[in-house]
Amino acid sequence: MTTTGIQVPFNDLHAHYLSIRDEIDSAIAAVIAESAFVRGPHVERFEGEFAAAIGVEHCVSCANGTDALYIAMRGLGLEPGDEVVTTAHSWIATSETITQAGGRVVFVDTDPKTYTIDPSRIEARITPRTRGIIPVHLYGQPADMDAIMTIASRHGLWVLEDCAQAHLATYKGRQVGTFGRAATYSFYPGKNLGAMGDAGAIVTNDADLAQWMALYARHGGKGNHLIEGINSRLDGLQAAILSAKLPHLRNWTAARRRIAEAYDRGLAGVGDLVLPHRGPNRDHVFHLYVIQTSKRDTLREFLGARGIQSQVNYPRCLPACDAYAHLGHGPADFPSAWSAQDRILSLPIYPEMGDDQVDSAIAAVRDFYEGA
Ligand SMILES: *Cc1c(COP(=O)(O)O)cnc(C)c1O
Repeated sequence: MTTTGIQVPFNDLHAHYLSIRDEIDSAIAAVIAESAFVRGPHVERFEGEFAAAIGVEHCVSCANGTDALYIAMRGLGLEPGDEVVTTAHSWIATSETITQAGGRVVFVDTDPKTYTIDPSRIEARITPRTRGIIPVHLYGQPADMDAIMTIASRHGLWVLEDCAQAHLATYKGRQVGTFGRAATYSFYPGKNLGAMGDAGAIVTNDADLAQWMALYARHGGKGNHLIEGINSRLDGLQAAILSAKLPHLRNWTAARRRIAEAYDRGLAGVGDLVLPHRGPNRDHVFHLYVIQTSKRDTLREFLGARGIQSQVNYPRCLPACDAYAHLGHGPADFPSAWSAQDRILSLPIYPEMGDDQVDSAIAAVRDFYEGA
């Protein structure tokens, strides 16, 4: 028997809100009652709570995850012509901020099984101008941090972790965000820890770097501005909402893992599907559940007709985008990332997704391959 007729959105932010409605409503009411709209006690409180949750000394909040990358790279200091190595497969925030911060983007192909940067290909791309490496813990799976940290220390490079999709993910039992000189987070509403608007943060154990980044993000201080900075602030409403949500993050992450396991069981051996591979020593937090198939576009259409939403994250690997045409890359330069772009499909996964919805999504995928 197949399950039909149950709608499965890609994500359900309203169900997410309803799951802790009273806590969110009272957090918002408190900020309004105090008019603590920008910076202020709610922001400071969240910075402390988030640093503790990740297990680092300092958290500098900012307006979004893109700014977090930009501010961190300004803090790490790039000179014109400096190169930063990053993965060919990510959201463009990871690479565009390298350019904005004054650096040159150098892409490295992915490991075909985990979609994260392939450490065995990094050293070939290192030159005397290389200053740092930005691994992305893509889809919620940690990059191979032991290998990356070894290469970085051998060449005297900094590591900046892009943790926008990987809140609370661990590598060898240690949280991502604690390996590099600094790490950046996004709290975009659909991320594993999401605000109700834009929000972001940088974490680090380097006190001087934290101080500089906080100064830079807030116009270089007040009165005697010590440097020219930017305006990238977290607002009080978002901070209070994030503080209300943070205690639930562990349970939400466990729910994502349970759904991923249900997909694994339900889709094993179906058609030509390649299911998410977990690299050794890595605890995946399943921001996205990404499968591969040669029939991606027809599967996606079939699912849509059955009321099951899906997405492609992302339809083009970064070196294949027009924004990087000037680098002159082709498919042979990044065989893994380039071939994934036509095969990957993200199935719905979010903590409030009901068992009936998971079953319905699985049944629809099976029907596509096995005939409804
Ligand atoms: C979401 C995301 C960002 C940017 O975060 P915003 O808050 O949307 O600016 C950066 N890197 C990755 C990998 C992301 O998924």
